[in-house]
Amino acid sequence: MTSRAIIPTTYKEYKPILDITSGKYYDESPVNKGEHNSIHYRCSCKKGSIFRTFTEYNQHIKTSAHQLHLKDYHIIVENEENEKNKNNNLLKENEILKRKLINRENEIEKLKKENEIFKEKYMNMVRKCGAFATNMTKNKKKIDKLKQENNNLKNIAG
Ligand SMILES: [Zn+2]
Repeated sequence: MTSRAIIPTTYKEYKPILDITSGKYYDESPVNKGEHNSIHYRCSCKKGSIFRTFTEYNQHIKTSAHQLHLKDYHIIVENEENEKNKNNNLLKENEILKRKLINRENEIEKLKKENEIFKEKYMNMVRKCGAFATNMTKNKKKIDKLKQENNNLKNIAG
């Protein structure tokens, strides 16, 4: 019985290297001459561009698609950086808005609770006012009765 080990293919993105002094990008092989490895390098110059060996790399970088790509690579990187920054800023803004929303929701909850307390207090006051009104009516009746009695007494006394 023979067993065949399946080595999973590893893909890596090939990226030109930045020359800090000139600000330009240049090609440098990620594979050494004669080196055998299982890494497949993908180049973003053209869809489906893959190289694995030093020879394949050399052939690849000579293609016109790659040459054009390398020429504009600094613009591509710049655009990518801008996009990344934009995304980061949007994420930050989103975080701030989310936090604001949570704060608002908490505030609403707090106000709702306060409202409940005020409602309770108001209802108590209404109940008390009702009692006062009843007492006032009772007192008024007593006053009227006493006034009437006083008038009667005045009449008797002449
Ligand atoms: Zn390429």
